[in-house]
Amino acid sequence: MRRAADVVIVGAGLHGAGLAMHLAKAGAGSILVLEKRHLAAGPTAKSGAMVRPFFSQAVYIQLVLEATSIFEQWDDQIGGEVGFVQRGFFRITDSLTLDRLGGDLTLMRDLGVPYELIAHEDLSRISPICAYHGEESGVLLTKGGYADPIRTTVALAAAARRLGVEFAEDVTVTGIETSGGRVDAVVTDKGRVATHLVVNCAGAWSTHVAAMVGVDLPIVIHRVPTALYRRPEAFRVEGPVVSDGVNQVYMRSAGDSHMRAAHFGWSADPVDPDRYDETISRAQHDSLRTLVDRRFPAMRASPSVGGFSAVYDMTPDAHPIVGPVGETEGFWCNCGWSGNGFASGPAVGRHLAARIMGGTSEVDLSTFAWPRAPDATARPDVNWVHR
Ligand SMILES: Cc1cc2nc3c(=O)[nH]c(=O)nc-3n(C[C@H](O)[C@H](O)[C@H](O)COP(=O)(O)OP(=O)(O)OC[C@H]3O[C@@H](n4cnc5c(N)ncnc54)[C@H](O)[C@@H]3O)c2cc1C
Repeated sequence: MRRAADVVIVGAGLHGAGLAMHLAKAGAGSILVLEKRHLAAGPTAKSGAMVRPFFSQAVYIQLVLEATSIFEQWDDQIGGEVGFVQRGFFRITDSLTLDRLGGDLTLMRDLGVPYELIAHEDLSRISPICAYHGEESGVLLTKGGYADPIRTTVALAAAARRLGVEFAEDVTVTGIETSGGRVDAVVTDKGRVATHLVVNCAGAWSTHVAAMVGVDLPIVIHRVPTALYRRPEAFRVEGPVVSDGVNQVYMRSAGDSHMRAAHFGWSADPVDPDRYDETISRAQHDSLRTLVDRRFPAMRASPSVGGFSAVYDMTPDAHPIVGPVGETEGFWCNCGWSGNGFASGPAVGRHLAARIMGGTSEVDLSTFAWPRAPDATARPDVNWVHR
């Protein structure tokens, strides 16, 4: 491991790997990524990894549109196979109002998101496996999809390595040295690395890293369940991701023979990300099963094959924290993505890298500044994570 670097990134989840690649492309000099376990060891590994620009604020829509285009040309732009499946993202809703839909269709259209409004009588054309009720209608994001989150991270890291970035795994950052109000070095369990620029991409552990420079980040780690099912024979032909806004549950394929389902929202269940129960409880499983069976009658004949719990790094307003933070010069953050960071992950690093290099970013990231600007608004649907 090198003993000095122009930039040290803490954490090799999706965001650490993506930022490393973009910084290297931008010519940021020597870059070292320190990871306490291995690539994608944190919540990134368990991500639903859905990519869909279904939001009510421009910054998210722009980032996810850019990420979608990167996924579409992944092999040319980044390299490697990341399991991107683009069969659309289908939101079922009982109203097109923002609070029920979770996305601003006018803004999405103005920013170039391709979508189709699906009338009630046409819903089964998009997803014949669902049961539809009452006045429900739908919105189909034709370019929506999902990827393999581990492969995505590994591919970004491989691209970064080809550009000269060093990834040091099994190295824990334990402190940050400062002098004269600026970062001087990162201290690890494997020695000291001199640097004047640290980016905190430690995801679920980012409060610990921020505390090393006296910053108290308002991120709370909550446990969230995902259920897994055997894929019924009736689902042999894979359709779009089904995002059921009425029952607030989404379901998508997980490989050839399984499906995964989870709630849109999250319940307060604060945990230590190093010591939480990674299983799914009977009650959590039953609650998901009820919602899934309601929307997909064929699932009633499908055995459950368990599930798992992961964690979200929630901020109070559900926006991430991206940019320079605190009084110490050279300390930056890209964390607190609040259960929504996969879709923006491959793109946001380019804009953050531009700012770190002293330039301006094409996408305005000011919504994510910490502390927030006085006129900043929370996501309207802060209680549900976008699914
Ligand atoms: C169940 C689930 C489903 C999701 N579904 C979606 C979805 O469909 N679409 C979407 O957009 N988003 C989704 N997300 C959110 C998205 O996956 C996350 O926002 C994103 O993966 C976070 O990545 P990260 O790199 O910020 O953090 P992390 O994955 O937490 O990575 C942080 C890394 O830092 C390392 N680290 C921590 N502390 C230190 C230290 N002191 N020294 C060295 N290394 C350290 C950790 O080991 C870890 O590898 C989902 C998340 C979950 C949990």
